[in-house]
Amino acid sequence: MINSLYPMTTETATSPTATSEQPRGLSADPVISVRDLETHFFTDEGVVRAVDGVNFDVHPGTTMGIVGESGCGKSITAKSILQIVEAPGRIVNGEIQYRRDAGSGETVNLLNYGANSESMRSIRGGEISMIFQEPMTSFSSLHTFGNQIDEALRLHTNLSKNERFELGVDWLARVGIPNPTQRMHEYPFRFSGGQLQRAMIAMAMCTNPKVLIADEPTTALDVTTQAQILDLLQRMQEENDMAIVFITHDLGVIAEIADEVTVMYLGKVVESGPVHNFFDDPMHPYSRALLTSIPSMFTLSRERLPSISGSIPHPQNRPSGCAFHPRCQSYIEGTCNIREPELVSVNEDQDVSCFLYEDQ
Ligand code: SF4
Repeated sequence: MINSLYPMTTETATSPTATSEQPRGLSADPVISVRDLETHFFTDEGVVRAVDGVNFDVHPGTTMGIVGESGCGKSITAKSILQIVEAPGRIVNGEIQYRRDAGSGETVNLLNYGANSESMRSIRGGEISMIFQEPMTSFSSLHTFGNQIDEALRLHTNLSKNERFELGVDWLARVGIPNPTQRMHEYPFRFSGGQLQRAMIAMAMCTNPKVLIADEPTTALDVTTQAQILDLLQRMQEENDMAIVFITHDLGVIAEIADEVTVMYLGKVVESGPVHNFFDDPMHPYSRALLTSIPSMFTLSRERLPSISGSIPHPQNRPSGCAFHPRCQSYIEGTCNIREPELVSVNEDQDVSCFLYEDQ
């Protein structure tokens, strides 16, 4: 079931803050284009297709929300962009076109750079940075926070040591950590879970990235801090035209921050389009099921919420035909269990992978 701390989820799924106004960045060329991305895990038990032919674009100054239940491939998609997929995972196919220079419009396929190449290292953590889901394991316990942010700034900026320290202090203050100067000299174990999450956000933002990948960045935070961080991300985006890939299973946060939404199920994109279409007119049965499983303003306090029947199958036991068919309320016998639907455009804005829209 959709989990949320953010107050937006207490509103009806059909009345989020998402509006039908098109954000300015959506008309610009994408800064990241993911095409036919496949990332597989080669285990003793067989091959797990964690990401199985994913496509989406991310535009400057806009936020692409990626949603879906745990295990649908959201985080592996994000790690694939930065080529930090852990073994036995491997990117086996696809392109990740990155428009490094907005002026020339030229793009580079990041997958042509080796994961440890100098080019990739200069982009990763600088031009494209990431807020990880697990702040506890993302910092070195052997170095102070100040040393760790200093290293990121040394690699990606030309600032002097004093300037790097001042910027680190400034960022800790901006994410709401008290006594930032003193905290620069402290080790990560002195930070609470919420402070570590905020410290990670400071670390990801301090290099002024063109693309920020945020993997459940506010899950560990209380409601007030969550709202402050979302506000900070939006301000940074406006100031720097930063593109954000925001991964979450919290649809309230998506309504608050996203311009476009990509819905993933079992490693595939099943629906994508503008955020207002997702909330006002979700097309894929999985999108509709996700939306009905969050509370609305009209939900009574003891009312049982609808849930999606069954659970997400293990990727090694992928159902035949449409992978969602064992859980789908609109399942068509003889079609959905045999053929696999393609992701196709059903109108100017929305792409859906479902036989219900085959004629469109
Ligand atoms: Fe449901 Fe069939 Fe559409 Fe899959 S293709 S989501 S099973 S109706």
